[in-house]
Amino acid sequence: MNPPISDALVFFGATGDLVHKEIFPALQGLVRNTGVRIPLVGVARSPWDVERLRARARDSLEKRGIFDPVAFTDMAGLLDYVSGDYGSPETYARIREAVGSARRPLFYLAIPPSVFPVVTEALANSGCAEGARVVVEKPFGRSLASARELNRVILQHFPDEAVFRIDHFLAKEPVRNITYTRFANPLLEPIWNRDHIRSVQITMAESFGVKERGAYYEEAGAIRDVVQNHLLQVLAIVAMDSPGGGGGDTYRDEKVRLLRAVWPLTPDAVIRGQYKGYRSSPGVAPDSTVETYAALKLTIDNWRWAGVPFYIRTGKRLATTCTEIFVELRRPPRETFGEVVPPDSAHIRMRLSPEIVIGIGMRVKVPGERMVGRDVELTVSSCPGDADPPYQRLFTDAIRGNHELFARQDGVEESWRIVETVLDGATRVYDYEPDTWGPEEAASLMKGTDRWVDPEPVQGAGNCR
Ligand code: NDP
Repeated sequence: MNPPISDALVFFGATGDLVHKEIFPALQGLVRNTGVRIPLVGVARSPWDVERLRARARDSLEKRGIFDPVAFTDMAGLLDYVSGDYGSPETYARIREAVGSARRPLFYLAIPPSVFPVVTEALANSGCAEGARVVVEKPFGRSLASARELNRVILQHFPDEAVFRIDHFLAKEPVRNITYTRFANPLLEPIWNRDHIRSVQITMAESFGVKERGAYYEEAGAIRDVVQNHLLQVLAIVAMDSPGGGGGDTYRDEKVRLLRAVWPLTPDAVIRGQYKGYRSSPGVAPDSTVETYAALKLTIDNWRWAGVPFYIRTGKRLATTCTEIFVELRRPPRETFGEVVPPDSAHIRMRLSPEIVIGIGMRVKVPGERMVGRDVELTVSSCPGDADPPYQRLFTDAIRGNHELFARQDGVEESWRIVETVLDGATRVYDYEPDTWGPEEAASLMKGTDRWVDPEPVQGAGNCR
């Protein structure tokens, strides 16, 4: 039997940054592309009314150049706004009024994590939780113990099948394409192991700084912000075994099985950095030691990956904005033509953003008498970017009760286990200049002739559709 469809969407934190950036575009897409017509109720403490919420939604869409007058009118007609304290019973009485006859609402919590317990408890005490689903934003906890505690509190009021833990990377088109490309092509699986792969690098670089989110970032740092969640999920998808057939939850089972095989990080496998100027950002302590950069070397202790280093690198104010996976293949056992060939010339590149690219690096002969070659990259697929916002896909799935693209508690806990040993002050923080590739010390993580491969701009990405 298919799970029931949610009949209202209530989003807490309606006045906030995330709702402006991601949720209004997703709601417009949801209304336009899926035909969903359910009450869309924003909740926050600010004394706004529905007109102000509509104006905010319009501003969000116009700023992104995606305002669609017809879809917006449809969406605006479904919007409502409830203002009130998150702990107060009157707020929840007004929410019940706003959702009308809905019996299976979806509650989405885009509020600071410290408020999650207050809201879940108030939803339960007011009777709103009955038959409902709850979608919780990341980060899910700030350590293994706090993630377990948050889960305990939520499960007091909602059954696990009603809980959806967001990691929006999982719904990104290029991330889903990693799974597809790996398991839809017989070419890849035979080489996807220690015999043919030398190393794997995952880079998530941002050229911008913390902007106005300094206070949030001070509580998080790069490892909590993107490594524990997005980048370990990507690593799991790159390295996991094929999900079996026959339904069930095999995709998430395989990801968790992979994460279980990852050793906890040791301080010598981590380089943390902080860009010069971070400490004068609004909301940041003048003596902050929070990392805006992290480079890590991970060990996957299983048969497939024995001896293959997995490197993760992320940072703010780096030389470019780009997220990519670089799989370095082993060179032939000897260089037949006596050339000195860069170790990374045989590779598979999966770029997740800003463009979506899959490329295969090879050597080809330079025309002429001599047997000498050059590096080329065969572009398998190239598109300008993600067409549908990931949150649109996530809302569609949560409304239908489909968990596959959400994180599961056991996976969340495994990820905390891996990074917990190097959080906060566990290692020194090196300064780095903005617009560079971070502290030079990151090179020390590399084994032998390995080196960081810095993503380069791709010219004229094509159109996939
Ligand atoms: P904001 O800081 O913008 O807060 C969202 C809203 O929550 C605010 O508009 C405010 O509304 C309310 N709020 C703020 N502080 C408190 C408080 N102490 N008690 C009760 N309500 C409060 O958060 P974001 O929108 O940036 O993020 C929301 C959630 O999404 C967080 O869990 C964050 O970790 C997560 N997230 C955010 C991302 C982003 O890019 N912004 C990315 C990924 C996840 P009001 O005062 O009107 O009640």
